[in-house]
Amino acid sequence: MFRKVHLYLTALCAGITTTILIVMSLLYLYLSEKELYENQFRSFQNDMSTIATSLEQQSVISMEWLSKMETRGSYTFYVLDNGVPFLYNRLSNLSESSDTRKILDSCLEYYQNTFEVNFSEEIDDNAYNTCHHVEFPFDPAGKKHAFHISVIELNRGTSSLQLLILSPLDFLREQITRQRVRFFLIDIAAILLLSLFSFFFTGKLLQPVIESRRKQTEFIAAASHELRTPLAVILSAAECLRDADAKRQTRFLETIRQEGEILTSLVNDMLTLSASDSQRFSCHPAPVELDTLFINTYEAFEPLAAEKKLSLTISLPEEAVPPCMADADRMVQLLSILLHNALSYTPEGGHIDLALSYKKNRFHLTVSDTGIGIPDEDKKKIFDRFYRAEKARSTKGHFGLGLSIAAEIVRLHHGSISVSDREGGGSVFTVILG
Ligand code: ADP
Repeated sequence: MFRKVHLYLTALCAGITTTILIVMSLLYLYLSEKELYENQFRSFQNDMSTIATSLEQQSVISMEWLSKMETRGSYTFYVLDNGVPFLYNRLSNLSESSDTRKILDSCLEYYQNTFEVNFSEEIDDNAYNTCHHVEFPFDPAGKKHAFHISVIELNRGTSSLQLLILSPLDFLREQITRQRVRFFLIDIAAILLLSLFSFFFTGKLLQPVIESRRKQTEFIAAASHELRTPLAVILSAAECLRDADAKRQTRFLETIRQEGEILTSLVNDMLTLSASDSQRFSCHPAPVELDTLFINTYEAFEPLAAEKKLSLTISLPEEAVPPCMADADRMVQLLSILLHNALSYTPEGGHIDLALSYKKNRFHLTVSDTGIGIPDEDKKKIFDRFYRAEKARSTKGHFGLGLSIAAEIVRLHHGSISVSDREGGGSVFTVILG
């Protein structure tokens, strides 16, 4: 299921980033190409102004000058003297070639139709030398951005000279094609990289979801397993109850009650953890006198310890400690879990110590016992849900949830909980609160 979601998210993420990339690239190409054509047209206009000015100043237009201008700007000149093609055109191979000729003719026609200017009518008798020029892009059918054209009209008294200058834009189109290919290749590489990135990124995003789903499945499996045992005992006791005599009936009823209590405590623990998972675990910090809370807890557990033939002691700081910002009920719950474990895993005649100290603005809460101890390989795992060290497996009513609840309480108080070996055997649980 997660594989499908992963692929779907990858496709979605890659699709969105790819679309953005393509749109941005196209926009950039459009703007950059537009600018290239505009710059080229502007520089062509400048060139034409220079040529027009120098034409104005020349009394005789030499072929040498025309040919020099042509090669300098890769232009094609077509000169008409009073409407008659100038000698230069006849000598030049370019203008005589039929293709160029056709273009020149259609261009001249386009110019006359579009600009509707008849320079010869504007001849000013007073002005011996008048020069006009106009530039425009010209695209013969099917060929976009083919040429920039300039028509220069030079009037000298009664004679008029028309220059049609053609600047092919092949080199610009080639440059643009090269740019488009470069962008295409870069975009393909970027799309591949983005797809790879999306795959890993969505994989990483899904990781906590997969992990929480795995934990949830494990939790349900472990909870069902733990619920099965007391339920089986209750069902078989109820079965036997029917045919049993009064004395045995009382025993079976007691068994049912005890197993019911175990079930209640298991369900309560599970509800506590589920509340913590869904952020509903209530915790209302307020100033708490931890030493008073310790004394109350000690008094509550003292009879239990005595019943189990264990000695329970309490160590408090000699000087008064400041109040601790904590949820008092949760603190009692935390100490109860640690003390219950100490009572459960310490054999008769053992010793349990409940201690509070205050160092460097931090409260240290410790519960140490002379019990069975915890092997190093189990020390990290005991805070996991439903984890029980091998030695504790036979202990009835212990489901491996107590320490995970304790860890949740400590986490809500932004503190830390750890376990270590007690010198001479047993374990020491230390909670540090800020
Ligand atoms: P449980 O309900 O089984 O005690 P916990 O989460 O409280 O569940 O503890 C997890 C496991 O940690 C226990 O099963 C036990 O193996 C180990 N453990 C906890 N406290 C002690 C202790 N004081 N001494 C030895 N082992 C302990």
